[in-house]
Amino acid sequence: AAFLSAAAYTFQDQELSAAELERTFIAIKPDGVQRGLIAEIIARFERKGYKLVAIKLVHPTKDFAEKHYDDLKARPFFNGLTDFLSSGPVVAMVWEGQGVIKYGRKMIGATAPLASEPGTIRGDFAIAVGRNIIHGSDGPETAKDEIALWFKPEELLTYKKETDKWLYE
Ligand code: ADP
Repeated sequence: AAFLSAAAYTFQDQELSAAELERTFIAIKPDGVQRGLIAEIIARFERKGYKLVAIKLVHPTKDFAEKHYDDLKARPFFNGLTDFLSSGPVVAMVWEGQGVIKYGRKMIGATAPLASEPGTIRGDFAIAVGRNIIHGSDGPETAKDEIALWFKPEELLTYKKETDKWLYE
């Protein structure tokens, strides 16, 4: 498409705009998995129009959880938080699409579920700040770092969907 030409990337003969290629790291934390919310959460991102480009079920070690939350290591809840993240399986994902980093955070809601609007994931399904079921990167730099921490480059797929043309003009 002509409109894509300025900032178009080509992967395997598929043309995708730079905006379509924005990526964020999303994780369903152990409470979300235990509460049976995997499909619900994936469905929300899927129905919005975002594209799943990586997914796996992992049980993080304490050490790995500490790496993930490295920027919070001075906080009083750090030990509890990293114990919790490493307490069971987590669904690690990378979602792609225009504005996905910022809008993904909107879909997730505020850190404290009781401060999250109804209609957001935390607003609809959680109560406690330490049991807020989902993680999402908070900016482009964090997204890059978190994707690199959780996934090997070959685990990230680039592909075109037939619906892309119905999502982007
Ligand atoms: P977010 O996940 O919304 O980006 P932060 O990066 O500030 O929020 O914190 C990471 C996670 O640490 C939160 O999702 C939450 O589970 C936990 N957390 C944050 N603040 C507190 C707190 N005051 N007490 C307990 N857990 C907290």
